Amino acid sequence: MSDNKQQLYADALVWDAHAGVFPSPQVDLNLLDHWRQQGASYVSINVGFDVMDWQDTLATLAAYRNWILARPERFVLAGSTADIDQARSEGKFALSFDIEGMNALNGNLDMIGVYHALGVRQMLFAYNLNNAAAGGCHDDDHGLTEFGRAVVREMNRVGMLVDCSHAGHRTTLDIMQESAGPVVFSHSNPTAVWDHQRNIHDDQIRACAATDGVIGLNGMGIFLGDNDIAIETLLRHLRHVSDLVGPRHIGFGFDYSPALDIDIGEILASRPDFWPAGQQYDTRGIKHAGPELLPALIDAMADSGFAADDIRGFLGENFRRVAARAWHA
Ligand SMILES: [Zn+2]
Repeated sequence: MSDNKQQLYADALVWDAHAGVFPSPQVDLNLLDHWRQQGASYVSINVGFDVMDWQDTLATLAAYRNWILARPERFVLAGSTADIDQARSEGKFALSFDIEGMNALNGNLDMIGVYHALGVRQMLFAYNLNNAAAGGCHDDDHGLTEFGRAVVREMNRVGMLVDCSHAGHRTTLDIMQESAGPVVFSHSNPTAVWDHQRNIHDDQIRACAATDGVIGLNGMGIFLGDNDIAIETLLRHLRHVSDLVGPRHIGFGFDYSPALDIDIGEILASRPDFWPAGQQYDTRGIKHAGPELLPALIDAMADSGFAADDIRGFLGENFRRVAARAWHA
C-alpha cells in the first residue's frame, strides 16, 4: 500500500454495519478487539435474531450491555454519530447493537423504544423466514404486514435505523415505500453478480438509493460467490452497485465473526428451515472477508479508479450520513 493510501486508511472513519457473531450471553466480547486492531472505528453487533426466543435476545442484550459499560476505557456504547466521533477522537472503539428479525418484539410495538433505550440502533424485519411483521428472503414472502408498517413508523419515530437485509424482495420494497427516512441493507450483495436468495436485485438497490440509503457489502464467501472472498470478487460487487446507483450508496457490513471456535456449518445444518438446502449453507469451511482485508481492498479500490472521497464514503462516511438522519443524532 502506498503512503497516501496508508494515510487514508489511518485517518478514515471505518464503519462495519454488521458483525456475524452468533448471539448469546456466553459470547466473550473480547473478540471486539479484532475490529479495534484492524483499525475499525465502529461495528454494529447483533444481540438476537428470529432463530432465538425474544427472551434470549433480551438476556443477550443485557449481558453485552453490562460488559461494554464496565469497560469505558476501551469501548463506547454509541447512541449517536456524535458519540462515534468522540470515541474516535479518544482512541476508543464504538459499537451499538442490532436485532435481526421482529420476533424480538413479541408482537409489541412498545419494545422498539425499549430496545432503543438499551443501545439497539438498527433492526431488521425478518430473518430469512416470514414473521408477524414481514416476509423473509428464504420464504414465500407475504410482504410487509399492517403490524410491519406500524413497526416502520415507530422505528422512524424513535430513531432506529431501518434495515432490509434478510427480508424478502416484496417486503423490502414495501418497507422502503413506508419509511420516512433513509433505509439500508446492512449486509447484502447484488444478485446480478452472484445469484443467491440472500442477495438483492437491482430494483431493490435502486429503491434503497432513492431513500438516500446505503448497501453494506457482505464478506461471507457464499454470498460473494462460490465461497470466494478474493479482493477482485468483492470489487466486482462494489463496482456493480456503484455503476447502478453511484458511490454514495455503498458501505461494508462484513457479517464477520472472529470466533473461530464456533463450527458455523454445524449451526447452519441444525436449522434447515432458517438456512435451507440448495443455498450453499452446507459448504465446508465457509470463508469470511473481514476488516483485515481493508488495506488490500483500499489498494484495489484506488487502483480501479475510485477517488479518495469515494473510498472514504465506502469505508464509513456513507453509513455515518444515513445513521445521522435515521438516529436523529
Ligand atoms: Zn445476518
